[in-house]
Amino acid sequence: DFNKIINSLYKEGFKKKLIVIDENVNRLYSFSKYEISNTFFCILPSGESTKDIRFVLDIITILTNNNFSKYDLLIGIGGGVILDLVGFVSAIYKRGITFISFPTTLLSMVDSSLGGKNGINYLGIKNVVGTIYKPNKTIINLAFLNTLSDKEYASGLMETLKMGILYDESLVSLIENNDINTIRLYSKEIITRSRQIKSDICKKDLYDKGIRKSLNLGHTIGHALEEAGLNLLHGEAIAIGLIPFVNKESKNRIKCIIKKYIKLDYSIFKLDLMPLLLSKIENDKKNTYGINVVIINENNDFTLKKIDIKEMEDIIRGLFNEISLWN
Ligand code: NAD
Ligand code: ZN
Repeated sequence: DFNKIINSLYKEGFKKKLIVIDENVNRLYSFSKYEISNTFFCILPSGESTKDIRFVLDIITILTNNNFSKYDLLIGIGGGVILDLVGFVSAIYKRGITFISFPTTLLSMVDSSLGGKNGINYLGIKNVVGTIYKPNKTIINLAFLNTLSDKEYASGLMETLKMGILYDESLVSLIENNDINTIRLYSKEIITRSRQIKSDICKKDLYDKGIRKSLNLGHTIGHALEEAGLNLLHGEAIAIGLIPFVNKESKNRIKCIIKKYIKLDYSIFKLDLMPLLLSKIENDKKNTYGINVVIINENNDFTLKKIDIKEMEDIIRGLFNEISLWN
């Protein structure tokens, strides 16, 4: 099967290719052992800290030293971290080089490899530098999911849960009626339906002026938690961040789903994190003089709302008081 992937990479007829790959994925699937002419490999460490300007420059150095033109090919293989990074390089190298993305995590298959957003973190702020630039091609291969841990799988599933809450009740039920072992049987359906939702929205609003903002549901508190050094995965953090913003009617249901899939020591959600979280939230790029949040209203529609820092503090206090007792 993986020979097929490799072949599909190489028959495209590009003169030069640079494959940037996550170290774990490379170890598991031995991509770099294939010796193909005019193909360069760059194996990068896994983890959020790889979304750093240092690695942007490392990749650009390889491209430049080997005289890559903008019509040569840059390939990213990995999860959201590698694809956000390589996508960003592809957008800025010679103002745009051909880019093929191979998402290997559930999160990157259902969400991050669609819609063109890319970027890196700086000064502890997530995605503070980035562009919107679509890959020329995205290749989804479900076989990658076989080696993905339950924890990572559940993290990706939380982006699907978010899309379900916003746009497709039956996706929420599908997640609700399964558990981490049985839900994997529905991977194909989950990926197809999530991608459909996201691509419909991005077709209407690629540049985040209107409806695409709905996909930030859960991400204001979520990003702050992710940046707070608690070792939370992206999907874990945004799942927690969803809780205050769903409507009363579905709150219990959503909480049960999150408790079932997201296995954490919930006592880490301590109120002494508040100043750090609030300062992260004030720096959030979604903000425009006020904190922009997405709220699910009683009709199950979403509303975009501006709240102030005091309201945010109350929301986080309520959330933490509740979930810190979940263990
Ligand atoms: P990730 O890229 O860190 O991958 C998670 C872990 O899984 C890593 O340790 C990686 O080595 C490992 N891994 C990858 N593929 C594997 C496989 N097939 N088998 C076994 N292990 C594998 O994390 P992620 O959850 O894919 O992405 C998170 C990132 O995506 C965050 O930085 C987030 O900000 C970003 N994101 C971007 C968008 C967007 O629209 N651009 C949307 C959502 C999230
Ligand atoms: Zn997200």
